Amino acid sequence: MAGSPAGRPVLVREGDLVPERRSNRHITRIVGGLLAHPPAVSVAVVALLLVLSFGLTVALGGAHRVAPHWFYAPILLAGVRFGLAGAFPVAAVATLLAGPLTPGDVEAGTPQDPTDWLVRGLFFVIIGVGVSVGIRQALQAVLSEHRSQRRLTELRRAMAAGEVELHYQPVVDLEDGRIVGAEALVRWNHPTRGLLPPADFIEDFEQLDESTDWVIGRAAATVGDWKERLGLDHFHVAVNISGHDLGRAGLPERVQALLAPTGLSPSDLCLEVTESAVVQDLDEAAATLAALRLGGTTIAIDDLGTGHATLAYVQRLPLDVVKIDRTFTAELLPGSPSEAIIAALTGLSRQLGADCIAEGIENEDQRAAVVRHGCRRGQGFLFSPAVPADRFEQMLIARLPASPGPWTTS
Ligand code: C2E
Ligand code: MG
Ligand code: MG
Repeated sequence: MAGSPAGRPVLVREGDLVPERRSNRHITRIVGGLLAHPPAVSVAVVALLLVLSFGLTVALGGAHRVAPHWFYAPILLAGVRFGLAGAFPVAAVATLLAGPLTPGDVEAGTPQDPTDWLVRGLFFVIIGVGVSVGIRQALQAVLSEHRSQRRLTELRRAMAAGEVELHYQPVVDLEDGRIVGAEALVRWNHPTRGLLPPADFIEDFEQLDESTDWVIGRAAATVGDWKERLGLDHFHVAVNISGHDLGRAGLPERVQALLAPTGLSPSDLCLEVTESAVVQDLDEAAATLAALRLGGTTIAIDDLGTGHATLAYVQRLPLDVVKIDRTFTAELLPGSPSEAIIAALTGLSRQLGADCIAEGIENEDQRAAVVRHGCRRGQGFLFSPAVPADRFEQMLIARLPASPGPWTTS
């Protein structure tokens, strides 16, 4: 992330793209421009092309003097833009305009032979409609690429404008109620749609090469500042990383470089990966996570048991923390299948020598139950949802030793 003259972070510059990606971008931009503008504009252009085609044929002396092939232009455009529903009616209108409504010879005032215009109409329908609908199919992939590029551009703009922010959810010691850490969770403060949860944009966010670096840098700076000013000891911050991050070279080096100016030590940073992030390329994921761990960062497996990985995958990963997903905590009743799963997951984390964090604790019964199974740390609405950094700081201050906070159980 480079700095701009105005001091705003510049996330990616046009010049950073390799030439091949730049030319692909031009193609998708042209196709997107052709297909993605409002329907009313396309209808107006098609109508204009029909009128021009008719006018041109008549101006040049009639259908016997000039073959009115230009009628294919509106048919193709309608087909590419609207599919069969657009191409077919336009081909019918073109057949009428280029057929009975156009004289064979304007000067002589002679009509066309019906066989002529009927054959031409048949060509309009078969060739115009077939080709345009075929082209449309082929362009769908380009169109969806265009849409995705537009969403990514919008997200980059939002990041540069400061609309994307981090909220922090406390991780709590379930026995004594201390806040022992925070999970950084991204939010988009959208100018018109309000505060958006990750579910609304995380797929795109993860595709941005710069997004995780931004989250790590921002979270480390915030938590490093809290640690220094509030004198926090043994406080960690967790950041979620994606399969996209694991597939890119250099994450361990970038983490070191991002932490250096913040004063946060690598052991205070926990990187959370989901099963779906590691299944994409297990060897690569295991190697990257091992390198991160060698640098001092701790590694957590998030939402274990809800993705596609098998235990054979899990045993290949270097793990410090197992996070129990809230789907299991939510259904936690004595003797329920969820309780059996939680017993298995806490047992697994013990066997792996990893810590355990239970997510989604919403009531006292759930807190007590996960503690009974040996899980000492947790997060959930019983304690607090994810909140903006300033509110999190207030919670930390309220819970400093001099002023015990609301969750101290002792
Ligand atoms: P996650 O990492 O499993 O985060 C926990 C999610 O559970 C958060 O949802 C949190 O707000 C929610 N949660 C916590 N306690 C409770 C509770 O007691 N009840 C209920 N119903 N929900 C609770 P959120 O913030 O919507 O995040 C959803 C997911 O988005 C995260 O799941 C994570 O996978 C992803 N995500 C969030 N921020 C980032 C990010 O910066 N990078 C990446 N790659 N993924 C992120
Ligand atoms: Mg997480
Ligand atoms: Mg989770």
